[in-house]
Amino acid sequence: MQTINNFINGQYVPPLSGEYLDNFAPATGTVSGKIARSGTADVDRAVQAAWAAFPAWSGLSLDQRHDILRAVADGILQNLNRLAEAESADSGKTITTARTIDIPRAAQNFKFFATALLHFSSESHQRPDALSYTLRQPLGVVGCISPWNLPLYLFTWKIAPALAAGNCVVGKPSEITPLTAALLGEICNDAGLPPGVLNILHGLGPEVGAAIVEHPQIKAISFTGSTRAGAEIARVAAPKFKKLSLELGGKNPNLIFADCDYDKMLETTVRSSFNNQGQICLCGSRIYVEKSLYERFKKDFVAQVRQIRVGDPAAPDSRLGAVVSKMHFEKVLSYIQLAREEGGAVLCGGEAIQLPTPHENGWFIAPTVIEGLPTKCRTNQEEIFGPVVTIQSFDDEADALQQANDSPYGLSATIWTSDLNRTHRLASALQCGIVWVNTWMLRDLRTPFGGVKNSGMGREGGWDALRFFTESKNVTIEF
Ligand code: NAD
Repeated sequence: MQTINNFINGQYVPPLSGEYLDNFAPATGTVSGKIARSGTADVDRAVQAAWAAFPAWSGLSLDQRHDILRAVADGILQNLNRLAEAESADSGKTITTARTIDIPRAAQNFKFFATALLHFSSESHQRPDALSYTLRQPLGVVGCISPWNLPLYLFTWKIAPALAAGNCVVGKPSEITPLTAALLGEICNDAGLPPGVLNILHGLGPEVGAAIVEHPQIKAISFTGSTRAGAEIARVAAPKFKKLSLELGGKNPNLIFADCDYDKMLETTVRSSFNNQGQICLCGSRIYVEKSLYERFKKDFVAQVRQIRVGDPAAPDSRLGAVVSKMHFEKVLSYIQLAREEGGAVLCGGEAIQLPTPHENGWFIAPTVIEGLPTKCRTNQEEIFGPVVTIQSFDDEADALQQANDSPYGLSATIWTSDLNRTHRLASALQCGIVWVNTWMLRDLRTPFGGVKNSGMGREGGWDALRFFTESKNVTIEF
């Protein structure tokens, strides 16, 4: 049994309440440890430590800050196996996913922003009689709140740019997957990150998360999670005029035209539907296929999905593991039931899977493909965030675009076509923040990342992230 405590001022400390929550292992459905249940007083303690560390941290030379953040990246890679095992055990994702995607990307986040800070620059505006220049100054202490689907990956995606820009951080990982964030504290100490620069608090969203959002000395909130919590955070933070970055839910369309590279599309669409049990905000959960290709696609896609091995996340040959929690397991199954009630036909999957002991109570769901539903129904409008996709046909480009945009969400979209003109037309007209053409989840960390509509506001990545975590100040000098 592991006990996960807060990381404040470079030390692991119990929550001031003395209370703990249960942490669960999704593959067995059993309690695996205890997590600090923190509240307002813990947040205040972390905020004071962070402000005390701020003058020295923001005053370091760029080279010094770069070297420490690079050392954190190296530390993550040196602990790759340990972190991957913890991530897999804590979230139910396969060890292969954790080892090849989550943990390498967490290291890459630190490496990327350690380097970016050396190249970050601001503007100047010249005229014959005056010069204006823009200072980009760190905000001070900022809050970073992250979800459970890519735990260390998304936590570090916020923390690394915040620290690179010279801020100190009060961070909160999801209470459902706290383990790797807890290990990060140790790695930061070993890398020479000064105490108080990064503080990590554990506990429930409406308790410690809300206390971070409310704290008057926290200047900005970078949040990734559900649209529901994002709206609540915006409601609380807006009257306090905090800077806000909100990366929220998605219901991403995948548009498949008959002129696409069929084999590449099929292989990628299986991944974009079910990677990480469909629990990636970028998964394409609404698949639209041109009518002339629909029957062929349906047959081949369902045949491939049936081959996907759902198994023990720790086994190297498992392609899908468990979904993250009992609550989420029940939510996903209830959406499959809803799809049936709405008239959908389940082509494969559609049920929980019971694995042999010791996984008989684990939260496993068969990858599920549903057809026969209109775009307007709840199954196609609401985020399920599990191994469930719907397939439907479209008549032509205009019909595809109309169905794709008929959603309250607007995070990403994927287009499969070999028609260059169509690519540009659709990429421009799709209502979302990210468009992939003939690929999926190809990530260049310099590009703006984020969504429109109910998928959030603001952009992460590259200069966008460093601009978010700094305040611009204009200085004008008349000659
Ligand atoms: P969630 O909103 O329940 O929780 C996310 C985090 O916010 C957790 O740390 C939680 O404790 C905290 N939280 C919850 N309520 C809070 C409040 N009132 N104040 C402050 N903090 C609060 O989301 P989740 O279930 O952990 O994650 C799944 C969701 O995240 C999905 O909707 C998914 O689409 C979304 N997501 C979006 C992106 C993106 O980049 N757009 C990436 C990954 C996941």
